[in-house]
Order: sequence, then C-alpha cells, then structure tokens
Amino acid sequence: MTLNDIDVFWVLLCACLVWIMQAGFLCLESGMTRSKNNINVALKNICDNATSIFLFWLIGFSIAFGVPFSNPLGDGNFYLFHSSENTLNAFFVFQAVFCSTCCTIVSGAVAERLRFIMYPILVALIAGLIYPVAVNLSWGGSLIHNGEGLLLALGFYDFAGSTVVHSTGGWVALALVIIIGPRLGRFDSEGKAHTIQGSNLTLSALGVLILWFGWMGFNGGSAYNFSSDIGIILSNTLIAGSASLVFTLILIHRAGQSPAPEDLFNGALGGLVGITASADCVTSPAAVLIGAGSAISVLFTSKLLLRYRLDDAVGAVPVHLGAGIWGTLAAGIFCDLGTIGSELSRLEQIGAQVIGILVTGVWAFGAAYVLFRAINVYYPFRVSPQDESVGLNISEHRASSELYELIAFMQYQSDTGNLHRPAPTDQFTELGIVGMAYNHVLNTVRLKEEKLKASNSQLETANESLRTYDQLVAHDLRNPLTVISSYAAMLQEDPDAQNNHREYVERIRRSSDDAMKIIRELLNFSRASHELETLEPVDLEEVLYNVRIHLTPLIEQSQAKLSTDCQVKQLHFNEFALHQVLVNLISNAIKYTPSGEAPQISIRSYAENGRHWIEVEDQGIGIEQEACERLFDNHQRLHSSPGTSGYGIGLFSAKKLLNGAGAEISVRSEPGRGSCFTLSFTPAPAPAQPSNPFDLESQDETRTAT
Ligand code: ADP
Repeated sequence: MTLNDIDVFWVLLCACLVWIMQAGFLCLESGMTRSKNNINVALKNICDNATSIFLFWLIGFSIAFGVPFSNPLGDGNFYLFHSSENTLNAFFVFQAVFCSTCCTIVSGAVAERLRFIMYPILVALIAGLIYPVAVNLSWGGSLIHNGEGLLLALGFYDFAGSTVVHSTGGWVALALVIIIGPRLGRFDSEGKAHTIQGSNLTLSALGVLILWFGWMGFNGGSAYNFSSDIGIILSNTLIAGSASLVFTLILIHRAGQSPAPEDLFNGALGGLVGITASADCVTSPAAVLIGAGSAISVLFTSKLLLRYRLDDAVGAVPVHLGAGIWGTLAAGIFCDLGTIGSELSRLEQIGAQVIGILVTGVWAFGAAYVLFRAINVYYPFRVSPQDESVGLNISEHRASSELYELIAFMQYQSDTGNLHRPAPTDQFTELGIVGMAYNHVLNTVRLKEEKLKASNSQLETANESLRTYDQLVAHDLRNPLTVISSYAAMLQEDPDAQNNHREYVERIRRSSDDAMKIIRELLNFSRASHELETLEPVDLEEVLYNVRIHLTPLIEQSQAKLSTDCQVKQLHFNEFALHQVLVNLISNAIKYTPSGEAPQISIRSYAENGRHWIEVEDQGIGIEQEACERLFDNHQRLHSSPGTSGYGIGLFSAKKLLNGAGAEISVRSEPGRGSCFTLSFTPAPAPAQPSNPFDLESQDETRTAT
C-alpha cells in the first residue's frame, strides 16, 4: 500500500469522522429507548467502541488483512498489530473504527433487555471473528502479498461496506434479536405490536445528523486517497441520504399515515447505508434511485420484523441489513463497470453482488446464531423480567435517575398510604419541579383529608345524638300517641257520642296509628343500621321461625301459606337486620296479594356462584317493569288502593340495610303474576371452599339494585 502524506492525512481525518459516528449512534439509540434504560444503552455504546478496537487490534485486523491460515507469528500477519509504517497505521485506524461501527449496530437492536456483562463478550466475538472474516472475504487478503479475498476474486464490489460493515452488523443483530426475544410489552398475547416510545427523540434526531456528518468520512475515507473522486463520493452520499428521507415521507403519506419520528430517522440512515456500496461509481440520478430503493427496503424490512414478532428496539436491522442488501445489489445495477474494474458484464456483476450478499449473510448470521445460541444456554444474554421492568439503569448499573426516584416515591405512597413525606424536589431540574408541584398537590390532599376527618367526627357526634334522639322519639312521642289512640277508641265506642263525632274520632285514631307505625319503622331501621356493625353466623331457619311468630296475626288474618326450602341454613350477616328485611318482604307479599285470595309465599335459600341467595316469591299483584327500577327509592308507593296501607320506606330501608353489609337486593316481577325478591349475601371467608367470582351466568336475568 503506497499513500502520500496528504492521503494519509485524509484517511486519518475520515477515521476521526467515522469515530464521531459512535457519538451519533449513542445519541440515536439512547434517545429511542426508555429513560429507565438510556444510561445502559449509552454505556454499551462506549463499551463496544473500546472492546471492538481492542479485539480488532489483538486478532481481528490480522484475520481481515493477514495471510489466511498462516503462522500467526510469521511474516504477513498482524496479530497484536504494531507497525512503524505510517501508512499501515493510518489504514489500521480507519479499519478499526469501521469494525466499531459494525459492532455498535448490534447494541441498538437488542437494547433494553440484554445483560450488560454479555455485551463485551458478544462484541469480542464480532470484532475478533465474525466481522474480520466478512472483511477478509470481500476486501481482504494479505496486505503484504497482495492476496485477494474470495468474494473480491469473484468480482464482488462493496466500496465502503454496505454489506461488509452494515449488513454484517444487521445479520448479527437479527440473530440476537431472534435468540433473546422481544421486550416485555412489545407484543401482546395476540401478537399485536405496541409502540414503546423513546425517551428523548430530539437527542435521536441529533444522533442522525451526527451520523450523517460522520458518513462523509465513512465513504470519503474509503477511497484511501485524496483524489478528485472524493467530490462524487460525498455528493452521492448526501444525495442518497436526502432522497431516501424524501421518499420515506412520500411513501408514508401515500399510505395515509403520518410519519413517526423513527421512520424519518431510519429513512435518512437507510439511504446512507444504501449508497455506501457504490458511492464512488454511480451517477447522481442513480444515487437518487438507490436512496428511493433504500426507503422502500427499510419500510419493508420493518414490516417483516413486526410480522414475525421480532423486536428491534431502534430499527437497526431494517436500516443496516435491509438497505445494506439493497445498496449492494444496486451497486451491481447502477455502477460504472469501468470504474470498479471487475471486468464482468452487467449481469455477471449483478450475479457477483448476489453471491457476495448471500455468502456474507450465511457467514454472519450463521456464525452469530450458532455461537450466541450456544452461549445463551450457559450464560443467558437476557436480564430477568423483574430487572427488565425496573429498567437496566438501575438493575445493571445502580444508576438511579430523578424519574426513577420520583416513581419509587409514588410507589411507596401508594403501597403504604403514607402521604406525609414530601417528594424529592430540585428547583433546577424539570423532574425536581414536578416533585415540587406534586408536593403542592399533596398538601391540598392532606388539607382535604384533615377537613374530611373533622367532618367525619362531627358526623359521628351528630349520629350519636340522633340515636339518643331516636330513644326520645320512642319514649316521648310514642307514649302520648298511645294515649290519644286509646282515648279515641274509648270515645268511638261511647254510646252517647254523636255520629259525626265518631267519624272525627275514627280519623284521629287512624292518624295516630299511622304515626306510631312510622316511628316503629324508623326505630327499627335505626337499630338495625347500628347493629350492622357486627356480622356473625345467622341461623336462617331460626330467623324465619321468629319472623313467622312476629307476623302471626297478619298470616292468620290473610290465611297466607308460607313454604320454606332452606338449602343454605347459615348466613354471614346480622340477625336483627335480616329479620327486619324478611318481615318487610313477607308482609308486603301478603299486603300486595288481591283481597279475597290466600297469599302463597315461598322462601328459598341456596348457594350459587360463590354467594348465598334468598328468594321471597309471591303470586300477588306484581309490579310493572318500569316501576321495578325505582322500587328501592325512598317513598315509592306503587299501589295505594284501599286496604294497602304503607309509606314507601320499607324497601328503601331494606336495601340500605343489606347494602350496608355487602349484601344486595333485586326484584323481578310481572303484573298479575307475582314478584320475586332476591337477596344475595357474601359468605363468610372459607378458604377450604374457594368461591368462583367469575361465573356470573345466573345474574343475567336478575337486575341488581345497589
Ligand atoms: P310500603 O310501606 O308502601 O309497602 P315498601 O317500600 O315496602 O313500602 O314498598 C314500596 C312499594 O312497592 C309498595 O307501595 C308497593 O306498591 C310495591 N311493592 C312492594 N312489595 C310488593 C309486592 N310483593 N308485590 C307488589 N308490589 C309490591
């Protein structure tokens, strides 16, 4: 290799530009991944830069450019590369940063779930074996003996490495993506893809521009001399990247979609990858076509990955493999055959390109898949699901972030219910300011909580006084009313009383009876609500027996027939409250049976769907469907014909009592055919007989009134 000083300067300058691409990859990839992983992604990028250059120096450079299968320490080998020759050193630097580029392509694809410790291992294998062999096939052979790589000998042309660098990286990335599987949450159980939004797309955009800038060195330096060819190489590089981005926009617009940020990033980068194989030997219009084809390849490959549920976190495979394959093929189609000097016809050149693509693909993918699959058995590449959920910044590097701390703080609050510690704040950072705003919200919540507590205790006191008031009402109102009622009865029976006086007296008596009934119901409700605080085992048969005794006069008078069928005998409820509810339902069933007919009431209890049920069914006058819906509201009297006394508060109270202790009541009814009230209770916790809360079948026909 003979280079003059200006050529050496140019190659080294371009090597620096290629090295700057590492910064571009770092920005692009860490911005496209979630903030819980971005430190990890950035560290991986720095790490692969160092590891790959070290391995390339150690062994890779020799495999790529030494004499194949020769004595490692003999003439023509570059193990532990060292040379006093300026040209060779410049060449090494340029090739070493190319190797780094190939390795770093992989880090983006497998980001957010790869164990950090495994990353240097896989980079070592890429830089020490997979990449150098790919280089040797296409560009290699001995620098000293002017040997030729196998593909080079066939006439395969890859100017700056669409296949050698980019597709090789893409193939390895694909193999790893298959081996380690998608990120948690990327695909649901039906295979539908969910977008995982990057944490800083502005940073990614900067990364794309840095890469674009560095690409001038990537392609420009590949000429290895500072000649007039540099102009066309750089102009083609610019044009293809731009054309690819423009065509991406057109394609997405034609598909009726709006362009996602990653489409734009990958659209531009795809064009740059595509032109890399032929930047020195195609015309500008051909560069545009290569850019357009790259746009299609990137979009097509992305769709293909989604179809097979392969998760490439940054789109490395579509950009570097998809556009790399296209660019290499396009070199055969559009190149100036004279410039590349392969002495092949157009068709033969295309054939050589296809062979080059296939051979490199089989080597890079095959070697990566076999090696990494085997390693994965003993040393898994992937982090645990817990670590993946927490994020690799924390789990792999203990590198906390403000966001993580704020989230951890909120998690602590939701777990413990302790709202008294303030969130971490910092007036100079965005999340610190969020913390301050959150503390303001917390203060308001705390104030409200205190007010609520104060109102609660006021309510408690008021409730207590109400209970005392109940007793007063019972005592002070009921007694005088009883006296009025008794004297009215005596007056009514007085033979001297005039007829119209008797009627007035009758009215007084009825009103005082009604007032007494209301007081009784209110007292019962108040007592039952109070007693609901204790839930205990209740013997249903015993409760029904007491209800029957309680209602004996009504039952005998109406000649009602009560039948009971208790499959469930013990409920977990409050005895007094259940007694009140059943008294109300049974007396209603009697009351709302047409006069002259003997009421038929059946009471049934059973267990179903993990709950206990009681049904009280009558064959009375029934209720309109529309009225059923408001039956449990206060003061609902649907039937007020003579003989049916009531105030419309019985069912309202019953529902309140039941709901207060987790039970429910509903009704189904048909006018003229009777009604059926259904009560549903939660059984006492019984671990030996787990309930099935998911089976809701039988609730379909019963409207629940809660
Ligand atoms: P009331 O004291 O009026 O009976 P409820 O709250 O117990 O008050 O009942 C409200 C209304 O629901 C009643 O006025 C009646 O019209 C209707 N109702 C209650 N139970 C039945 C029933 N078993 N059959 C027909 N209608 C009923």
